[in-house]
Amino acid sequence: MEIRRLRLSGFKSFVEPAELRIEPGLTGVVGPNGCGKSNLLEAIRWVMGETSAKSMRSGGMEDVIFAGTEQRPPRQFAEVVLTGSDDSGDELEVVRRIERGAGSAYRVNGNDVRAKDVALAFADAATGAHSPALVSQGKIAHMIAAKPAERRQMLEEAAGIAGLHVRRKDAESK
Ligand code: ATP
Ligand code: MG
Repeated sequence: MEIRRLRLSGFKSFVEPAELRIEPGLTGVVGPNGCGKSNLLEAIRWVMGETSAKSMRSGGMEDVIFAGTEQRPPRQFAEVVLTGSDDSGDELEVVRRIERGAGSAYRVNGNDVRAKDVALAFADAATGAHSPALVSQGKIAHMIAAKPAERRQMLEEAAGIAGLHVRRKDAESK
């Protein structure tokens, strides 16, 4: 799985549509405090199906929508588009959009899909909203303090078998 491009619109501080090309190799994001570096990482996690508002540093999921400033009115929706390729090298475009009062909707390569489909696709690729590759501020301290079961879950995600557990839970609930 390779991320090549990110497009953000109305997402947190990215109020105007912004497009970021991610070149192969190492990418660094630098800027002063509060310029949106963490928001960018959260956008990647969000488009991959993050369901926890808390881990987006939000009270509710709609709080990811640009809230407005003295100069600018709030936005009605937030959208993040992730473009890249999957593990077989095929083009992959994932869109997540949230509208005030209407919740989130997802599209993969132009087709409407369920949140679960997006979460599963990324879990199989050993990435996704809970990927151990996404290390946010405070995450290391959290990992050290985690209970053994939670730490095992992190290792399973790193090993790429988390998708199996999602499928088992899904099968058990039927
Ligand atoms: P640091 O270097 O301190 O870690 P950072 O570059 O990671 O900073 P972020 O935390 O990504 O900065 O950005 C914080 C900014 O995003 C704040 O100015 C905050 O007001 C703004 N922000 C977050 N959510 C929203 C929202 N829904 N609407 C408008 N602005 C928002
Ligand atoms: Mg930050």
